[in-house]
Amino acid sequence: MQAHGLRRARPAELVPGTVSVITARMDYLPRDTPDDWQAVEFARLQRPGEGIVSLYARGRDYHKVLRSRLARLAERIAQEVGPFGHRAFTDSAPVLEAELASRSGQGWRGKHTLVLDRDAGSMFFLGEIYVDMALPPSEPVTPHCGSCRACIDVCPTQAIVAPHRLDARRCISYLTIEHSGPIPLELRSLIANRIYGCDDCQLVCPWNKFAKRSALPDFDARDGLSGSQLAALFAWTEEEFLRHTEGSPIRRIGHERWLRNVAVALGNALRGGAPGTREALATRQADASPLVREHVAWALAQANAV
Ligand code: SF4
Ligand code: SF4
Repeated sequence: MQAHGLRRARPAELVPGTVSVITARMDYLPRDTPDDWQAVEFARLQRPGEGIVSLYARGRDYHKVLRSRLARLAERIAQEVGPFGHRAFTDSAPVLEAELASRSGQGWRGKHTLVLDRDAGSMFFLGEIYVDMALPPSEPVTPHCGSCRACIDVCPTQAIVAPHRLDARRCISYLTIEHSGPIPLELRSLIANRIYGCDDCQLVCPWNKFAKRSALPDFDARDGLSGSQLAALFAWTEEEFLRHTEGSPIRRIGHERWLRNVAVALGNALRGGAPGTREALATRQADASPLVREHVAWALAQANAV
């Protein structure tokens, strides 16, 4: 983020000529999400042999979906006002996305730092269109966290170090997705069976009872990415990993990081006595990747951990 410097705070430095920013949000809960989805998701933590993929990542890569929707929105606007200069972003490093969203009234910044809204909770993606025409600014909404601190208290790694302050180095979402090296030893057991991202601070948020299902099939969970056993996921060859994650955001982390994450979860399952985990881990004791080998060795040692 530092690399992008002022371009993050000043949209016109990133896209010359930008005068306004249109912000958008898109709900992503899968269409078949049950009403008690928060309880259903928390229950997965009680099944240590199952791998948990963050809800937003079980379907199609949202970057693609959102970018094409923003392009269509820009086309629609152009039909009304004529051609205009614009550029669309979603989840782009040089864009202060959550800040733009909260300043423009898409929601307020929760104590977990994500944007949430009274009508939609926080289960949505954000996107922006930088435009070269002056638009009347919308107003921020008032925050409604009040005295609640459920997200702070539930965080398994205590990554929310104070209201509105996240230590990304402790956040399971960061560690399992963005972080490329070994997972810090002291955090591995706290990751439990989360293998890609973490939803806990959102699952516990009372406003998410108002979270909306997506109208699109794109975010429906794919086979293998919801409710699968860790041992089966660990057995995926690189070719199988690429096939199962084609068009999915998970593909971005690559097979090696995937195995690293699943190895940590298998180690945690082994400590809890889940059947079949030792055998699954043993298959990759001599993996070609030193990163995977080290995590497998750690995981196997969990059999003797208290
Ligand atoms: S995503 Fe998980 S680890 Fe990260 S802050 Fe939220 S609860 Fe904590
Ligand atoms: S869990 Fe509570 S404190 Fe955290 S974002 Fe939701 S309402 Fe705010």
